[in-house]
Amino acid sequence: MGHGFAQVAVNIPLDRAFDYEIPERLAGAVRPGVVVRVPFGPRSMTGYCVGTSEAASFHRTKPILAVLEAEPVFDANDLELARWIASEYAAGIGEVLEAMLPSAVRQGKARPATEFAKLVTPGAGEPPRGAKQAAVVKALAELGGEAAVSQVLEKSGASRASLLSLVEAGLVAIEKREVDPWSALRAAKTEPHDLTPPQREALSEIVEAAANRRFQPFLLFGVTGSGKTEVYLRAIDHVVRAGGQAIVLIPEIVLTPQTVARFVGRFDRVAVLHSHLSAQERHAQWRAIARGDAQVVVGARSAVFAPARKLGIIVIDEEHETSFKQENAPRYHAREVAMRRARIGNFPVVLGSATPSLESFYRAENAEYRMLQLPQRVESRPMPAVEVVSMVEERAIRKGRHVLSRRLEQLLREALARGEQTMLFLNRRGFTTHLFCPTCGWTAHCEHCSISLIHHKDEQSVVCHYCGHRTTVPDACPDCKGTVVQIGMGTERIEEEVKGLYPDAAVERIDGDTMSKAHAHEGLFDRVHSGEVDVLVGTQLLAKGHDFPDVTVVGVVSADTGLHFPDFRARERTFQLLTQVAGRTGRSDKGGRVVVQTYNPAEPSVSRAAQHDYVGFARAELADRNALGYPPYTRLVRIVVEGVDGAKVTERAQEIAGALGAAVVAAGGKMLGPVPAPISRIKGRFRSHLILRLALGTAPGTFVDLIPGRSGRKGGIAVGVDVDPVSML
Ligand code: ADP
Ligand code: ZN
Ligand code: ZN
Repeated sequence: MGHGFAQVAVNIPLDRAFDYEIPERLAGAVRPGVVVRVPFGPRSMTGYCVGTSEAASFHRTKPILAVLEAEPVFDANDLELARWIASEYAAGIGEVLEAMLPSAVRQGKARPATEFAKLVTPGAGEPPRGAKQAAVVKALAELGGEAAVSQVLEKSGASRASLLSLVEAGLVAIEKREVDPWSALRAAKTEPHDLTPPQREALSEIVEAAANRRFQPFLLFGVTGSGKTEVYLRAIDHVVRAGGQAIVLIPEIVLTPQTVARFVGRFDRVAVLHSHLSAQERHAQWRAIARGDAQVVVGARSAVFAPARKLGIIVIDEEHETSFKQENAPRYHAREVAMRRARIGNFPVVLGSATPSLESFYRAENAEYRMLQLPQRVESRPMPAVEVVSMVEERAIRKGRHVLSRRLEQLLREALARGEQTMLFLNRRGFTTHLFCPTCGWTAHCEHCSISLIHHKDEQSVVCHYCGHRTTVPDACPDCKGTVVQIGMGTERIEEEVKGLYPDAAVERIDGDTMSKAHAHEGLFDRVHSGEVDVLVGTQLLAKGHDFPDVTVVGVVSADTGLHFPDFRARERTFQLLTQVAGRTGRSDKGGRVVVQTYNPAEPSVSRAAQHDYVGFARAELADRNALGYPPYTRLVRIVVEGVDGAKVTERAQEIAGALGAAVVAAGGKMLGPVPAPISRIKGRFRSHLILRLALGTAPGTFVDLIPGRSGRKGGIAVGVDVDPVSML
């Protein structure tokens, strides 16, 4: 008599599970949701049990080798969610389940414990012998009498043997403790504000849905500084008081310490999931969340999978941010996953933004989401006045090369004189954007990618922003020996210009380069707050929800950097970025002014942003999308074919087009391509893409299934499928 069969999913890009026999010794232990080890082809793999059955659909099943975690790591809702993601995003079910778990949990590692050393009451044992032992005792005393063993050894410089002899002498005790899952951030407790009438109205609707355990998506559309975060905090408070848990998704943890601090400051047990955690800390958090100890989970995209079994609300702050879309398999969008999770678990989802994605705005206009509006800033603070400066006119009037317009120079000077702060924004790092030979037309390109190299003066090199390849700055054109000129500008150039114009000002830069240095941001944000920084120059990292009350001038050095991207969302992104940057000022009684420099003053994403007219922009943009057949009126599927052999890539892309074309057209859709991707080569690999434009309501999966040999890398060619793509490059 057998013990039945289990359906096991492994991490391969196939949307199916495999039957395995449950051996006698594992009878009862194999349940849906447990992590197992199974033979797979010539090797063994980690897998996830997604179901059990009396009979197998296949007659030569192999036995399961081991159960790695006795307790199921997925419940029935998780498995249902995973199945939905796999079919929605054309991913393997095992691939999805794997992405839902931190690796320490997945590998069935031992409990996340740390050893703690503790001083035993003085006088209890023999006095320490020798310098090493004395050093340990001294270190422990300085650490408050108890601390992690690793910390004690590091501080004292002693060996483990010295510590153990102290244990033997009865002076020190060692005990194992679970790693602390709570945020190391100790934020000051904050008191709730008295809500404004629109905040109160929004809150009551959210609370009503949460209390009645009703699935309901809300779009909390409120201008920057309108008090959206306070609404989230209050709604979560209701859920937590009723014994529930909350997940808060934010675009970037490390760069938004202030946002995180507001949650930590309001609740006792907040698990903050960020990328700098150790595997043990991650494991400890996972367990604390699964046990129901964590009240609130704050994290980026993947926190949407946090194992909160008592989940009562999900909040997505800055819901329009592109970082909520995962760019490798499984290519899910956290917003859509949150919606599905809430539908399965019956609770509300709150999407918050001052510049909602057009997808969300469209759904709100069509009553799929409930729109809640906070049209004004709190305490009747005005929106900052935005002036658009045409750089076409500026150049006609003013000779020479000037990065800042006369108006921006004037405002900056005045702010410096008043001792207030200025932010200068340019969404491009580096010094210049092109090295160009006017004699023969040569430009500096990456050897491995089809994009130009960017000059970084700081590092005296030219760098590829895609693969990191760097070389020295050429003295002369390598082709004709002519003089090379620099075109375009990046944040380094702005920094240099401002330092030249205002030598007494304290200027700092924040961008991908300065942020790559560990912990650089922490000190910087503190210096901005304490007023040590006069001018802050940076990329979009500046636009993220910071609240610096003394910033009274914001300058957008060029609104045009993203406008001409080969992407149908280029205008939407420009509008969002300008609005977010402008929103960094006027956050106190000192008011704020914004100058936007552009060569395209008539461009609606620029002019409407200057007028704080999101709705006007969104309606016009939606009309264009509708006319051109772009989302949210259609769904896109992007198929990227990649490989080192360019000819094979083209051939394969054509083969795929041949297999799909007729079916797409028959379903009322359209196929574009194959053509070389806008970045046609990255890291030496050629890239072609096809874009399927499907009518709403068609399931992308049906077409993806038609791709010949989708799993496996036939002939060194990889085929990636991206449903609802966010990046078109
Ligand atoms: P948003 O998330 O919409 O940008 P915040 O929630 O950060 O806005 O609110 C902006 C500022 O106003 C914060 O400093 C916040 O503490 C404060 N605030 C929020 N709600 C109120 C209120 N009802 N009364 C007074 N101040 C408030
Ligand atoms: Zn040349
Ligand atoms: Zn490169």
